[in-house]
Amino acid sequence: MTQAFHANLLTGEIEAGRKTVLNEIAGVLCGAENAPCGHCLSCKRILSEQHPDVHILDPGKNSIRIEQMRSFLVEENVRPFEAPFKAYVILHAERMNPTCQNALLKTLEEPSGDTRFYLVAENTDAFLPTILSRCAKRQIVPVAKEELVRRLQSLGAREERAWIAASLANGSWQNARAIAEDDAFFEQGGAAAETLCRVLAGEMTALPFLHTYVQKKESALTAADWWLMLLRDLLGTALGREESRYFYTRPQSYDRAATVCSKRTLVRLIAELEKTRQQILENVNASLAADGFFSAVLKEKKTK
Ligand SMILES: [Zn+2]
Repeated sequence: MTQAFHANLLTGEIEAGRKTVLNEIAGVLCGAENAPCGHCLSCKRILSEQHPDVHILDPGKNSIRIEQMRSFLVEENVRPFEAPFKAYVILHAERMNPTCQNALLKTLEEPSGDTRFYLVAENTDAFLPTILSRCAKRQIVPVAKEELVRRLQSLGAREERAWIAASLANGSWQNARAIAEDDAFFEQGGAAAETLCRVLAGEMTALPFLHTYVQKKESALTAADWWLMLLRDLLGTALGREESRYFYTRPQSYDRAATVCSKRTLVRLIAELEKTRQQILENVNASLAADGFFSAVLKEKKTK
């Protein structure tokens, strides 16, 4: 467990940093023995960024504006809803201009109660010395995929499972372990990938079964993850790559699907599926969102 500081500055890859910070907060607030368990209500809400006491500022591709910073901090002096402390996470913190940094500095200097700040930044070049001197600094270290595979296997995970979990973990050991332990993810996901692969190989009788995977948000996201892995591996094969990036053991109809799907088809389907996945994340009804992807699959098969 990392020691808790009031103000933290993590530098490195932003998405790995986001995961590191959320896992850390979840780890403190989770009551389970091997915290963060990832399954309790507290963990789920923190990791899905829905916890009322965990505030996250993510400017996306933009810089951080002063109004944005002010409204982000406006409730800093309000007591936490349920957690023993409040957490403020600022992603791409290097995009705060000096005015923003000064606004933040005031709160950093006079926090009300137990508030923890996490600044996640690509580098420290743009920070005022006054901010830097207030923060406990550390590097975000993404763990290499091979290393994740090795560690998972040492815990008894089978190679193909370790391989997929490591591929999806964004360099985080906690993510990798949580994915590897998720039996439902592998059972449902593996079956969903098999089914899509059959359809891509031309077995159109399998098409209606695709719908069974997208009835609920959770299972639809699992299916989307696995379908993306499948399409990306197929694209890799189409581009002449020998080994697969995700599937240690390929689905049965893989070779047949690989011979009939062109690069162009695969690129199109990947784009369509990424769009679908994003919509599901944004709470569009999963089976409605998936319709876009399914009709793209159907269209590609018809133009054959
Ligand atoms: Zn938990």
